[in-house]
Amino acid sequence: MARRGLKFAGVVLLGPPASGKGTQGRLLAERGELCYFSTGQELRREVERGTEFGMRTARYLSQNRYVPDEMALELAMSWLADAGSGWVIDGFPRTRTQALELDDSLGDVAHRLRTVFLDVPLDEILRRAAGRWECGRCPWVGPSDELGACPCCGGALVRRGDDDPPSVRKRVAVYEDLTLPVVEFYAESSRLVHVSGVGSAEEVFKRVLIGLEYDDEIHG
Ligand code: AMP
Repeated sequence: MARRGLKFAGVVLLGPPASGKGTQGRLLAERGELCYFSTGQELRREVERGTEFGMRTARYLSQNRYVPDEMALELAMSWLADAGSGWVIDGFPRTRTQALELDDSLGDVAHRLRTVFLDVPLDEILRRAAGRWECGRCPWVGPSDELGACPCCGGALVRRGDDDPPSVRKRVAVYEDLTLPVVEFYAESSRLVHVSGVGSAEEVFKRVLIGLEYDDEIHG
């Protein structure tokens, strides 16, 4: 069953680091009353919580490498099992193996999956990552001056540890090596919506809705 506005089994957000996957994912989830999950955010939380899973995760994140497929699959699949119908996932699948496993788990409805590819050039990625802050209390992410408080809840803003230029370049290289093949995989099966991720969040969101042929009148 599709949820409000969506004809699809679920939506995957793909794109390089700082392409706006989190922002667009949350906007889409809010608009369609869909469940939202970010594997990157959840991995960082596991590290902060100091769980056994988090301790295994930390060394990959500190080296700007992807966690092994088994770990990403464990995290994403257990969330998907609880999410039911109508979901948006940001940061998964990120490798061909993950994409094949996701299709396998979706079975008959795999053809109704849609992926949104947010296309942002490297100079813009580096610029955005350099000015990106996130709230330590709520899910807000965005540009801010260094002393600013969260515009959403007033919480303290923090910088992501992997947003410095060398880390971003490494993450882009890993993305090009392992995730661009996933973009091609979905394009080949006509499940890819290619959107320019350049512009304001509102401008990009309009393109996402058009690309998904989102319709507020569709109810599950
Ligand atoms: P993100 O917040 O989406 O930029 O993700 C932060 C980091 O988490 C990435 O650079 C990866 O190291 C890791 N990560 C997130 N999702 C995945 C995934 N599906 N597979 C492997 N590693 C992931």
